[in-house]
Parts: sequence; structure tokens; C-alpha cells
Amino acid sequence: MGLPIGGDSRKLSFWKPVVDHIVARLSSWNNKFLSFGGRLVLLKFVLSSLPVYFLSFFKAPAGIISSIESIFKRFFCEGSEDHRKIAWTNWDFVCVLKEEGGLGVRRLGEFNMSLLGKWCWSMLTDKEGLWYRVLKARYGEVGGRLREGGRHDSMWWRSICRVRGRVGEGVGSWFDDNVRRLVGDGRTTLFWFDHWIGETPLRFKFPRLFDLAINKECTVKEMESLGWEVEGRAWEWRRRLLAWEEDSVRECSEVLHNIVLQVDVTDSWRWLLDPVHGYSVRESYRFLTTSCEQVDRSLVDDVWHRNIPEKVSLFVWRLLRNRLPSKDNLLRRNILHVNDLACVTGCGASETAKHLFLDCDLSYSMWLLIWNWIGISVVTPCQIRDHFIQVSFMDRGLLAFG
Ligand SMILES: [Zn+2]
Repeated sequence: MGLPIGGDSRKLSFWKPVVDHIVARLSSWNNKFLSFGGRLVLLKFVLSSLPVYFLSFFKAPAGIISSIESIFKRFFCEGSEDHRKIAWTNWDFVCVLKEEGGLGVRRLGEFNMSLLGKWCWSMLTDKEGLWYRVLKARYGEVGGRLREGGRHDSMWWRSICRVRGRVGEGVGSWFDDNVRRLVGDGRTTLFWFDHWIGETPLRFKFPRLFDLAINKECTVKEMESLGWEVEGRAWEWRRRLLAWEEDSVRECSEVLHNIVLQVDVTDSWRWLLDPVHGYSVRESYRFLTTSCEQVDRSLVDDVWHRNIPEKVSLFVWRLLRNRLPSKDNLLRRNILHVNDLACVTGCGASETAKHLFLDCDLSYSMWLLIWNWIGISVVTPCQIRDHFIQVSFMDRGLLAFG
């Protein structure tokens, strides 16, 4: 699909083929005739197939991310079964993970980031690979890592560095924070650079000592052999230490006091988000998009269930958020006149979602029949939410007996 080799990924023109392709894909469908669920499926399809190729190589500029997202947003939110352009759902909410109550449409920026993180992980774990050796020849190695910050670095390399680095992009050092070095014999772990002990690499924890150290690229094994107790030979400084620097040495030495190296175990990398399988785009994406907000599990787990057709789940999802085109909602959006608010069954009350699904004579008698049929008595709920929770708990009970 024409990935421009050597193009400048910061330029908008670089991304034009991607944007054009998305527009073409989406506009080949007549949005007017697609249901809410249909649009969601199509959107996810376009998202999952298309930009991945670009996004796994290049860091997309914020401008591109937001213009692609606004295309998606327009497609999804403004398309409407009743031919009117109403945004029935808040786009931000659509992008929240399903487990957290959203519809699980991917956020491009974070997705881009987690795809690029894969390169950073491979750089740590696949140093024998041809591609790594090529990069090493091109950029050189410092502290066991490919060197960054050179004046002739390619755009591609710069954007990768930004992912693994400690600066910028709003998510800061998410990559570094999730990587740990597991020390075995200590032969391939860099004492100052690698994150192998404590909350942060020793060069950040003891910056002054790192500055003063003569050999900055020594391994843990070398330091241990020389002796890292306070008077040990491991400490070689560029000048005599000041009193407070001596204190730092003491502190550092204390941190190392209990370390015992294991002769038969080689050092390895661990990805904290998945210690068993290592880096995965999925887990990283989850990490980058998960909010700290408490989620009401009962409104999530029972909506999305493998035995419930997606169409039904979506309907419930909208109902629980009062995002269905009931007459009161249409009135609020200036589509219906206040005189047209009467319930569709002709019962005389005004039509709200709650009335339609709970209070209306028709639906109320239907629920009575259902309760009767199952053979239990239920408190008539005041809110759709409570009703949903009640029914889904009952359903679990039935499943347990079934
Ligand atoms: Zn009614």
C-alpha cells in the first residue's frame, strides 16, 4: 500500500495515502442505511485492517491522529438511522475499553504508541537479529542500548527513541517504567544503566555518583567482583568525593548489601505488564488507555456476554445510558414538538425510555407475565439500571440451576 521509504513522517503529506484510504473505505457505505451496530462493526473493521501497517513503523503526528479520529467520529456519531445528524453518543466514551463501560473503539494515538513499543522491546531482547546489528552499525551503542540523539538520526529512529525515552508525548516513560532487568549472574546487566534494582536505574537514583564514576558501562558482575561495600574497589571516582557524596556511596552500598548473584542463571528482561509472554501490543494498549476511574462491573460484565448477540448488547448499552431515540430524547434535541410526546402505545403518558421499558401498561404487563413464568416475585424497580441489575442477577441464578 505504498509506504514511502525515507519520507518524513512528521509531514501531513506522508500520511495522505492513509487518510485517503480511510475516507474511501468509509464513504463506500451509505451511512444513512447503517444501524448504530452496523457502523460500529464497520468502523472497527476499517480500524483494525488499515492504519496498522503505517502505525507500526511511524509515530503519527498529533494532527494526523486527530484528523483521522474526526473522520471516524463523524462517520459514527453523525450517521443516523432516522436520517438526522444527531450525535447519540460521546465519542470519548465510544473509545473507552469495553471492560470499562465503553464500546472499545481503538484510540489511534495510544495504539500507535503500543505498536512502536514492540520495536523497543525487540531492541532489548533480540540483539542477535540482523535488523539490530544494522541499527547498531548505523547508530552505535551506549550503555548496551542503541545510541540516540545524533544529528543524522533518521526520522524513524527519532520517533522510536521518543517512545522508549523519558521525555514528552504525554505518557512519559511508560515503556521504561514497565521494563525490568532480572539479574542472574550479572554478566550482561549494566550496573548504572539497566533498571535492575529499586524503583529506577541507579544512574537516576544516584546521579552524582554516576557522573563521577570512571567506568559507567561496568556490569553488575564486574562491580560485585571488585567489591561494592563502602571501601570496595568497585568505586572508582574521577576525583576525591565530598562528604555528602561519601554519604551517597554509603547509601548505594546499603542498597546492594543483600544482592547475591546466581552463577547458573543468565540475566534477562522482564516486561512487567506480562512477565510470562513478554511484550504484547494488547497489554500495552490497555495500560495506556486504562483510566483509574472505578467501573460499575455489573453494568459491564452482563452487557457484553458471549451468549448475547452484539446487536442486543449494543441496544442495552444505549438504553442504560439513555441514548436511544425515545420521544423525550428527540424533544431534547429539537426534533419533536412538545405536543408529539405521547407514548407510542397510546396509553396517554409521555414517552421516555423508562416509561417505554418499565412503566407503560403494555411493558409492565409483559414483565408481570415474565415474573409469573419464571415463578418469582420481584420488586418493581424504579430505574432501568436497577431493573437490569435485578434481571441479570436472576439470570445468573437460573444459569447456576440450569
Ligand atoms: Zn405508554
